[in-house]
Amino acid sequence: MTLFEKIIAREIPATILHEDELCIAFKDIKPGAPVHLLVVPRKPVPRVAAATADDQALLGHLLLTAGKIARDQGFAEDGFRVVINNGPHGGETVPHLHVHVLAGRPLQWPPG
Ligand code: 5GP
Repeated sequence: MTLFEKIIAREIPATILHEDELCIAFKDIKPGAPVHLLVVPRKPVPRVAAATADDQALLGHLLLTAGKIARDQGFAEDGFRVVINNGPHGGETVPHLHVHVLAGRPLQWPPG
């Protein structure tokens, strides 16, 4: 079971902001910005590079959910960043696909 499956199963506590039949969104434990959320599919797809055509609708749903949360939480207009880390060079540390949503301050580009 991945760390995020344990959060989905309520075995590990998290501040959950959204939940539906396909995904869950909760606050990152080590926020990199005033708003730092993770949108996580219930299906434990390890990473983007491991996703298949079967996951097409799921991947779209994760982005649509990120946008909906941004509107609902009121940071869509100021702007936000969506990040998916993939593999060692991408900075992935949890092998369960997740979309980072960062907001609440101007963000630097390019990332380090
Ligand atoms: P990655 O580095 O794989 O792209 O992102 C993993 C994220 O999960 C990190 O930003 C990290 O802070 C977050 N994280 C790791 N462990 C926990 C945890 O137990 N609870 C929560 N809410 N976030 C976690």
